[in-house]
Amino acid sequence: MAHDVLRSICVFCGSRPGADPAFTAAAAGFGRVIAERGITLVYGGARVGLMGSVADAALAAGGRVVGVIPRALVSKEVLHDGLSELFLTETMAQRKEQMMALSDAFVALPGGFGTYDELFEALTLAQIGIHDKPNGLLDVGGFFRPLLALLRHAVEHGFAGESDARLVVAEEAPERLLAALAERARRS
Ligand code: AMP
Repeated sequence: MAHDVLRSICVFCGSRPGADPAFTAAAAGFGRVIAERGITLVYGGARVGLMGSVADAALAAGGRVVGVIPRALVSKEVLHDGLSELFLTETMAQRKEQMMALSDAFVALPGGFGTYDELFEALTLAQIGIHDKPNGLLDVGGFFRPLLALLRHAVEHGFAGESDARLVVAEEAPERLLAALAERARRS
């Protein structure tokens, strides 16, 4: 399937591999699928954790991979040395801004606090109308179930609207997630 409306996807995910090898397998699977569809991967530029897995798989499948990393994190997160393109930023905030500017959609894979931070930034900017790019979760083994419940919790207590909760789509299969994101991008 050609996702002409999704030329580039920004992936947020763990700088650690997580406790289950299924996370690494899923990250690699997602990287491969987006490369096979000719979609550019935009991500945080590291070669460690799930970040490294998604980039390695996309590159191995012949994809274009763009990294965006703050100078101060180059050694801590271990910069990937095989990227198609690299942007160095001065701050974490500039990194997020640059990753978002370069992308047509945002996808979170399993990860930790940094992943949540990035996901919520994309989501809250969509909520207040700063961008209209689709947001997705690759829900590996139900990893995001607690987060989806937390979003619902906010809606049920009147702190977000039903339409806000619908700003994020969760799917376990990469192909289904890409199809849902493409559909949303077409509508926006
Ligand atoms: P983590 O999910 O915690 O492994 O982090 C994933 C990515 O988010 C890493 O590249 C982190 O550098 C990044 N990150 C961590 N904290 C923040 C933050 N406060 N703002 C933006 N990015 C962050």
